Amino acid sequence: MKIVMLGAPGAGKGTQAKQIADTYGIPHISTGDIFRANIKNGTELGRKAKEYMDKGLLVPDELTCDLVVDRISQPDAEKGYVLDGFPRTIPQAEALTNALEARHEKIDYAIDIEVPDENIIRRMSGRRACLTCGATFHTEFAPPKVEGVCDVCGDKLVLREDDKPETVANRLSVYHEQTQPLIDYYTGKGVLVEVDGTLDIDVVFEKIREILGA
Ligand code: ADP
Ligand code: ADP
Ligand code: ZN
Repeated sequence: MKIVMLGAPGAGKGTQAKQIADTYGIPHISTGDIFRANIKNGTELGRKAKEYMDKGLLVPDELTCDLVVDRISQPDAEKGYVLDGFPRTIPQAEALTNALEARHEKIDYAIDIEVPDENIIRRMSGRRACLTCGATFHTEFAPPKVEGVCDVCGDKLVLREDDKPETVANRLSVYHEQTQPLIDYYTGKGVLVEVDGTLDIDVVFEKIREILGA
């Protein structure tokens, strides 16, 4: 099963993608996590990506597309995957479609998690991220067992630099301009499904399970 997650920053893509990956036994591929891991490890890609990420801008397609095409070609992605945070532009979506078509494959579902802009700032300011394993928590809606500590790997949790309100506003306008058009793109391909992302985390996942079946 090949799935793309769509939705504004903070809509809950990562939260749901992890549950889908666990339930269906497919890898969760997050471009944001890949870039953050590169920043943490001080790679050249990380250094370039950080310049854009800190401003709330998208990392250029040239640095993003090949990385994803390469990742989905790995053996663990043979049965499917859930892409979180990619594609984010029409050229990225086209690069993905072309790479898949070359192997007679396609995306099965593009799941759009709908959350109005008004809710997003509160989601982001309460998000706490583990930069080691990629887990995310929320001070109010999904608190970790011990404050400031990752439930999954025990490392410390941080408020991401780009989750501060100044940057979130930029990311939202980038989302509306560059990423929202993908809703029409995947509607045109007949694979778009929409879920209400304002519901509780578990309820959103129930809806997704109903859509995916099994
Ligand atoms: P969120 O989970 O809030 O939607 P992500 O972790 O997916 O955020 O992305 C964080 C930042 O990483 C983005 O604001 C952008 O700068 C960069 N990024 C992630 N994925 C992509 C992508 N597919 N194309 C361009 N930039 C990306
Ligand atoms: P995205 O990957 O789309 O940027 P996340 O999955 O990281 O979003 O979720 C953003 C923040 O909102 C996190 O702190 C997460 O714990 C929280 N969150 C996710 N889904 C919900 C929900 N349905 N209700 C309330 N909070 C949520
Ligand atoms: Zn962790």
